[in-house]
Amino acid sequence: MNKKVKKRIEKLRDLINHHRYLYHVQDKEEISPEALDSLKKELFDLEQNYPQFITSDSPTQRIGGKPLDFFEKVKRDNIMYSFNDAFSREDMDNWEKRNKKLISANFEYYCEPKLDGLAIELVYKDGILVLGSTRGDGLVGENVTQNIKTIESIPLKLKGNYPNKLIVRGEAIINKKEFKRINKDREVPYANTRNLAAGSIRQLDSSITLGRKLDADIYSIVTDLGQKTHQEEHSLLESFGFKTNNRYNKLCKNMNEVFEFYSYWQKHRENLPYEIDGLVVAINDNNIFKQLGIVGKAPRGAIALKFPLKEATTIVEDIKIQVGRTGAMTPVAILKPVNINGAIITRATLHNEKEIERLGLKIGDTVVVGRAGDVIPEVSKVFPELRTGKEKAFKMINSCPSCGSELVKKEEEVVWRCPNVKCFKRKIGWFKHFVSRSAFNMEGIGPKVLEKFIEEGLVSIPSNLFDLKEGDILPLERFAEKSAQNIIESIQKRKEVPFSRFIYSLGIRNVGQKTSKDLAKRFKSIEDIKDATKEELESLSDIGPIVSESIIDWFSDKDNQLFLRELERKGVVYFLEKQKSSILSGKKFVITGTMKNLSRELAKEKIISLGGEVSSAVSKNIDYLVSGENPGSKYQKAKDIGLIIINEEEFLEMIK
Ligand SMILES: [Zn+2]
Repeated sequence: MNKKVKKRIEKLRDLINHHRYLYHVQDKEEISPEALDSLKKELFDLEQNYPQFITSDSPTQRIGGKPLDFFEKVKRDNIMYSFNDAFSREDMDNWEKRNKKLISANFEYYCEPKLDGLAIELVYKDGILVLGSTRGDGLVGENVTQNIKTIESIPLKLKGNYPNKLIVRGEAIINKKEFKRINKDREVPYANTRNLAAGSIRQLDSSITLGRKLDADIYSIVTDLGQKTHQEEHSLLESFGFKTNNRYNKLCKNMNEVFEFYSYWQKHRENLPYEIDGLVVAINDNNIFKQLGIVGKAPRGAIALKFPLKEATTIVEDIKIQVGRTGAMTPVAILKPVNINGAIITRATLHNEKEIERLGLKIGDTVVVGRAGDVIPEVSKVFPELRTGKEKAFKMINSCPSCGSELVKKEEEVVWRCPNVKCFKRKIGWFKHFVSRSAFNMEGIGPKVLEKFIEEGLVSIPSNLFDLKEGDILPLERFAEKSAQNIIESIQKRKEVPFSRFIYSLGIRNVGQKTSKDLAKRFKSIEDIKDATKEELESLSDIGPIVSESIIDWFSDKDNQLFLRELERKGVVYFLEKQKSSILSGKKFVITGTMKNLSRELAKEKIISLGGEVSSAVSKNIDYLVSGENPGSKYQKAKDIGLIIINEEEFLEMIK
């Protein structure tokens, strides 16, 4: 018996690994993600019953272990280098000239897009991943193996003809789509993909890393396998089962070709699924590369040719504090207006006071402001040498600029918050969130209108909006009869919302649109979510301990409970959304006659719950007529226009 189980486990492991490779490395899909999950589930269950057969390269081992207290240090034999930067043709020509003085030869350059992530090193023994580390200071990095293992495109076991020991290097990255998804749910968003990748790899709790679908690009082999060129190194990496960027890379015969390639990517970088910030240009011949040696912390034989930065310099005229809906205080730099890539920028986020400290920023300083894609502009550098002496140090406030409450900060957080739930600015944030498109979607109610309502004492919590009458608004300045009427209508129209948007509207900390949708899929009502245990909440793939705690905190708060009851009292209802993958999705039904096993009402409910629609009239748009006993005239009409007619048994079979 045990032998049979062992065989099954081994076969499952290989099969799962094969499909993981197809999907995550080669971008191909032969079986659905659901089928793959189902295989994983079987493997997991078997391994739980036969733990003696668990191996470290099993796909089940990607799902993190216990949170760590700290990262172990990893000392390496070969320093992990960084590259010097070049920004122009002149820089590159000088670099080539310097190298040719040292070695006179004809250089060919291997060029690859430079991904904006976090550098990592992987160590394999007998083909099994045993260590993953960050660069750290180059010589000593941090052991982040558990987090690296969550990256599906990184093999836990190598393919092909691998050596006993293999050390490779690459970049852990996060693609643009995932970056947007994660930032959407964050009150203090990550400034760029690099920060997010770094923040995810350096998580002591690997369940958080798991929830952020990281990817990796592997680009160099440290171990000497006799590889003669950098290009060969890339093919070797591919043969071991690593995800490389080979299809985007190019071997260039000379510097002119390098620059053709450079302008190509400058134009086409937006089409890539992830951010790149330039090219890495390396001398292709490994012999020459080695002979050129190292200068400082960088090899002479390679250089990072960066794209022109979307940056500009300007002056920080003030630092203001923005109050979020959960009371988070975000310092924002008020800038002398500056044009970056065609957009006038007047504000840049400073994230938190720690970031201001790190930058060494004072009010009045000249700074570099950068903007990558559609990401929020941020201050990246300060020029203290341009100070006049009139600059003022920023001091983080300790009370709320709106209500005066003393700010609080959780030990593990860097963000200060106003704890007062009745705080005006917080309240505005809360109302704005409540009426926003992804929540109740009340059109025509902007921040100015909300401020007015709150100031006039017409509303104090969002549920009060439903009580507003035209007569309440009309006496206010700037409201004509027509617009007052529009506002009331757009509020009253929204008493029914989809469940996921209802959840989102509550403004639970760390619960953004994606998490709201997941919750709406898993739970059937607000009460279900309220009663869910931490374990039940965390059984959802994207919910970790921080999110589950926020949810539990929110529901245990008396004011929030009152708020839910208020919404109910105003007649606000939510409805469950149709499941996209359901079997009757998009199908239209008409029911006629009497059924033996279920009432017509129940049949109707079943169809709707499975994503179908029920109509009362027979027409060409109908997919099925369900015919019970003693059908009426609908039966004949359906027959006349040639609709598909099914009886009760066939219908029950269909919805089984
Ligand atoms: Zn406040």
